[in-house]
Amino acid sequence: MNGIKFIEDLNLEGRRVLTRLDLNVPIDNNAQITDESRIKSSLKTIRYIIEKGGKAILMSHLGRPEGKRLNSLSLKPVSKVLSENLGKNVIFAPDCVGKEVEKIIHQLRNGQVVLLENLRFHKAETKNDIFFSKKLAKLGDVYINDAFGTVHRSHSSTYGVSKFISESAIGYLIKKELKFLGEIVSNAGEPFLAIIGGAKVADKIKVIDKLFDKVQALIIGGGMSCTFLKAQGFEIGNSLFEKDSLHFAEEMIQKSKEKKIDLLLPKDAIIANSLKEKASIRSIRLSEGVPKGWMMLDIGSKSAEIFCNAISGSRTVFWNGPMGVFEIEKFSNGTFAIAKSLARETERGALTIVGGGDSVSAIKKLGVSEKISHVSTGGGASLKFLEGKELPGISSIGRS
Ligand code: AMP
Repeated sequence: MNGIKFIEDLNLEGRRVLTRLDLNVPIDNNAQITDESRIKSSLKTIRYIIEKGGKAILMSHLGRPEGKRLNSLSLKPVSKVLSENLGKNVIFAPDCVGKEVEKIIHQLRNGQVVLLENLRFHKAETKNDIFFSKKLAKLGDVYINDAFGTVHRSHSSTYGVSKFISESAIGYLIKKELKFLGEIVSNAGEPFLAIIGGAKVADKIKVIDKLFDKVQALIIGGGMSCTFLKAQGFEIGNSLFEKDSLHFAEEMIQKSKEKKIDLLLPKDAIIANSLKEKASIRSIRLSEGVPKGWMMLDIGSKSAEIFCNAISGSRTVFWNGPMGVFEIEKFSNGTFAIAKSLARETERGALTIVGGGDSVSAIKKLGVSEKISHVSTGGGASLKFLEGKELPGISSIGRS
């Protein structure tokens, strides 16, 4: 993969393998982990280090403590779940740098595992502070990055540290992410359909622009479709609208005609007079316009049908962003229709990739994660990859 070193390229036996993972899992008030997926996605790399006789020194962030030591954001509960999954004791270090941690690591035997406390208890971590990076680097002989979710960040543990350790490589999870996302960028089976939804056009302008060079069809749904609908001259009432992105929407509509890309926007919608669970709702055709005081909060059933037909006619589908305010049940039908359709078409042979964030939550809520070809563990990172941006957590890794 472009010569990026992979964990299997390094000799790990008897060495301290400093490994950056994304163990940023949701934890409730009773210190219970409510979704273990990120832990499970990291196991393959940890098991490989153990099997090869390395000393696994695991590090991660959890939430946003912003330099404060918060019990609620300790990684301790994660060490317990890791132990259960690995079937062996995972030692928990009370900090991620310093003398006490160095002592624990010094006493490690081959094949043992230690998890360091939350990196972001130190403000220096997110600042990519050179002294903090050096302190982390002291803990390892080799460095592995397998935290895809933070690969687009230049933090000490994802970027700075690799400058002070001579050998580095990516782990199994990043390799898998690059394989699937790389396929979309350079080798997607056609027809290739991208589905982009969510709230803000501005956040996705670059990725939409890039996708225009790759896809045969593009669906725009969710709140962001309202700016496109406005660009087509429809009344959108009080729906989400980004004045600054209107020109971009107009350009994309024009470009789709020139490039003969099938740009699919909602034709009908579920509208409501407020964003509350108890709001009055109506189903309308968008050609009627959204009345003043009302807003579009989901795509309608006809649009869902059209979008699902487009999915079933495609060989490759990339999806990022919900079709409506899916957190509220009465505005969730469009998003779940897309999720179901992706699962169905994967079984029929399509390559389906869901790019992180809310679309992944929808897939999980529906219980169809296993039926999707690839569910990315990094929303922001996968979009940055598709934009063609350099990912610091990967560009800093050694080359063979
Ligand atoms: P993003 O982070 O841009 O992918 O946006 C995700 C958020 O968009 C979710 O929390 C949805 O509730 C929200 N969303 C989706 N459709 C709409 C809509 N029509 N109006 C307002 N918010 C929406």
